[in-house]
Amino acid sequence: MSLGEFDIIRKLSAPTPTRSDVLLGIGDDAAVLEVGGGRKLVVAMDTIVEGVHFPAGTAAADIGHRALAVNLSDLAAMGAEPSWMTLSLALPHSDAAWVEGFADGLMHLARAHGVALVGGDTVRGPLAVTIQIAGWVEPDGWLTRAGAHAGDVVFVSGSPGDAAAGLDLLQGKVVAAPERRADVEQLTQRFLRPQPRVQLGRALRTLASAAIDISDGLLTDLDKLCAASGCGARLDVEALPLSPALQALFTADACVQNALAGGDDYDIMFCIPPTCLAQVAARIGAESGGVGGGNSPSYTRIGEIIGARTVECRRAGQPFGIARRGYEHFS
Ligand code: ADP
Ligand code: MG
Repeated sequence: MSLGEFDIIRKLSAPTPTRSDVLLGIGDDAAVLEVGGGRKLVVAMDTIVEGVHFPAGTAAADIGHRALAVNLSDLAAMGAEPSWMTLSLALPHSDAAWVEGFADGLMHLARAHGVALVGGDTVRGPLAVTIQIAGWVEPDGWLTRAGAHAGDVVFVSGSPGDAAAGLDLLQGKVVAAPERRADVEQLTQRFLRPQPRVQLGRALRTLASAAIDISDGLLTDLDKLCAASGCGARLDVEALPLSPALQALFTADACVQNALAGGDDYDIMFCIPPTCLAQVAARIGAESGGVGGGNSPSYTRIGEIIGARTVECRRAGQPFGIARRGYEHFS
C-alpha cells in the first residue's frame, strides 16, 4: 500500500516520544525548542532534489541559493532570526567548477542573513541538497500556523504565481516572444532565486495571529494554516497581486491558476486581527498591493478568515472554482 506525504508524516509523528522542552513539534514550518536562557531555538529542514524541485541543468549557484532560501523561508514564517545551518550534499560526481558555483550561490545568501555553515555530510548519489537551519526567537512570541480567528485579515507578501510561471518558462512549457525577455528573466529569477522574507517575519512576530510560507501553492498552504487554526478563509481572487511580468506572458486565467495553485513562491501568508492593522502598517509600511520581488516585499490583503472550516474563493462576489490544487509528494 502506498501512502501520501501527509500519511507518512503522521506515521512518524504519532509514535515519537514527547518531551517537555519541545514547545512546538511536527506540523508547522519549523520546530520551537526550549534550550534555557530565554531565547528559543527554532529548527527546520528542507531537501531539494534534481528533477523534483529544480530541473536538471539548473546552474550550481542557483541550486546553492535555492537550498538555503527555502529553509530561510520556513524560519521567516516563524518570525525567527536565522543563525546556523548544516548541509548534506549528495552529488553524482565531484566537479570542482560545480562545487565552486554551488558554494558561491549558497554563501552569498548565507552572508546576507548572517548564517554560518557549521557541519554536514557529503556523499555520492543522485543530486540532492538538504539543509537544516537553526535560529532564534524571543520568548515573548513566535509565529505559528495556528492562531487565526474569524475576522482576521489575510495578507500575502510579494506576487504569488511568478515562481510557478518561471518554472514553466524554464521547462519550455510556455514560450515567450523574444521582446518579452525582461519579463521572462524576472519570472525565472523568482523561481531560481526566491527571496526569503526573513525581515518581514521578524516584523510580524508579535502582530500576526498566524503565518505560513507558501511553498506548495497559496490555496493548499492557506488550507494548512486554516486546518491548524481550526477555521476557514474566503479569498478574493480579484485582490491577488499579480505581477506585471506574469500578466504580460500569461492569460488572465493562467495568472490566477498560477497564483492560487502554483508552488515555489516562498512568500509569507499571514493573518492580522483587525485591532492590529494600524500597527502592521506602522511597522512594515503601507500595503502596496502589487509588485513583488526585491528585499522589502510588498504585501497585499487577499481575504479574510471565517469560522467555517472551508477555504473558498470569490470573484466579483460569486463563488470561484479552481481546477488545480497545490503540490503534494506521493499524491
Ligand atoms: P513545509 O511545507 O513547511 O515543509 P509541511 O506542511 O509539508 O511543511 O508539513 C510538514 C510538517 O511535518 C513539518 O512540521 C515538518 O517538519 C514535518 N515533517 C515532514 N517530514 C517529516 C519527517 N520525515 N519526519 C518528521 N517530521 C516531518
Ligand atoms: Mg514551510
